[in-house]
Amino acid sequence: MKQSVLYAPTLKEAPKNAEVKSHKLLTRSGMIKQTAAGVYSYLPLGHRVMKKIEAVVREEHDQIGCSELIMPALQPRDLWDESGRWDDFGPALMRLKDRKERNFCLGPTHEEVITDLVRDVIDSYKKLPLALYQIQTKYRDELRPRFALMRGREFVMKDLYTFSDSQEDLERWYERVSEVYTRIFKRVGLDTRIVASDTGDIGGDQAHEFMVMSEVGEDTITYCEACSYAANQEHSGLDDGDECPECGGRITTAMGIEVGNIFKLGTKYSESMNAYFTDRDGKRKPLIMGCYGLGVSRTLMAAVEQHSTDESIVWPKAITPFDIHILPLALNDDEKRETSEEVQTTLGAHFDVLYDDREERPGVKFKDADLIGIPYRVVLGKALEEGKAECIDRYTGETELVPLEDLVAFFQKKIA
Ligand code: ATP
Ligand code: MG
Repeated sequence: MKQSVLYAPTLKEAPKNAEVKSHKLLTRSGMIKQTAAGVYSYLPLGHRVMKKIEAVVREEHDQIGCSELIMPALQPRDLWDESGRWDDFGPALMRLKDRKERNFCLGPTHEEVITDLVRDVIDSYKKLPLALYQIQTKYRDELRPRFALMRGREFVMKDLYTFSDSQEDLERWYERVSEVYTRIFKRVGLDTRIVASDTGDIGGDQAHEFMVMSEVGEDTITYCEACSYAANQEHSGLDDGDECPECGGRITTAMGIEVGNIFKLGTKYSESMNAYFTDRDGKRKPLIMGCYGLGVSRTLMAAVEQHSTDESIVWPKAITPFDIHILPLALNDDEKRETSEEVQTTLGAHFDVLYDDREERPGVKFKDADLIGIPYRVVLGKALEEGKAECIDRYTGETELVPLEDLVAFFQKKIA
């Protein structure tokens, strides 16, 4: 793709409300733009990254037998009255009325809608288990929207719901999804720690969060230096130097970004909303539910926070908006310009390539390229005279002069 037709308005200065590195970089690189507090537009580059994260999430969920659907963001009050959450959810629920004065909310989560969707249909153990997920925009009127996509009032979440005929089956799903989450985060460049957490507004029996350890995280994690014990401080009440409840070792604390949250809901929604099935023994029982949230837009933010310096991003391979950034620096020389365009065509046949055809000084191109953060860079300048390109691997910082005819093979080794 030609950079001249890409809408990526880079900025010299970060907006005043940008407190953390990822917020500064994502706005300065022209990937996102604030429309209202906690409400963002995803510009073409940011949108490409989101689509890549979503693709990883889809692939991993489909592999364990989940099916994707899409539910409405606009939800009628009746369903929320049935679960009792119209009142319980509090001011974070975005409420509105239609022209006939009927009450609606913009979905902050979808337990009510999905329970309504399957009740009556899933009437027998023969139709279980069932695992349905969506990747969708959620709405929460957060008290303190901040750090851009980290705590938005409109944000993208993947939410999965499982329905089981037994507690054992729920436990199996919980374990399976937990493994899938670890794998998804690893693939998009994030190491996560699983910590025990409160069940909060959603309710249920047991919950865990997936945390990316980071100083800008809003959660305090307590963990044992000696064993695998880890819990959100909200849940454990432990502090630095306390004794580990599992092994007696020493507890330490650190900050974390919550990128995912899984819950054993049990029968909270199926009982209140009357979603029952007939079991093997002929008895009517409430469906046993699990729900599993993954913050897609927050994951993007966490990935930038972990893979950047103050002035540049280096995207993990799986989610980079483009594989290779070509910077032609001799566009005024007809011969070199033609050769540069040939390089674009050749590499473009094998990889996602961004070609900076803008009439800008090299300094501007390099600065923008650092901000945009594509991990492999091809500089077409003086070396073209010897039929070579300067290839930069931004993960290692190494630069190599590569003959033009070897470029495809050179990057196939790196990107495959
Ligand atoms: P938090 O504790 O951060 O408020 P939560 O526990 O209310 O989040 P869930 O309802 O479990 O969140 O949502 C699932 C996931 O969605 C979270 O783990 C997080 O990654 C993401 N998420 C939740 N709220 C927001 C938000 N306001 N902005 C961006 N992502 C969010
Ligand atoms: Mg949470």
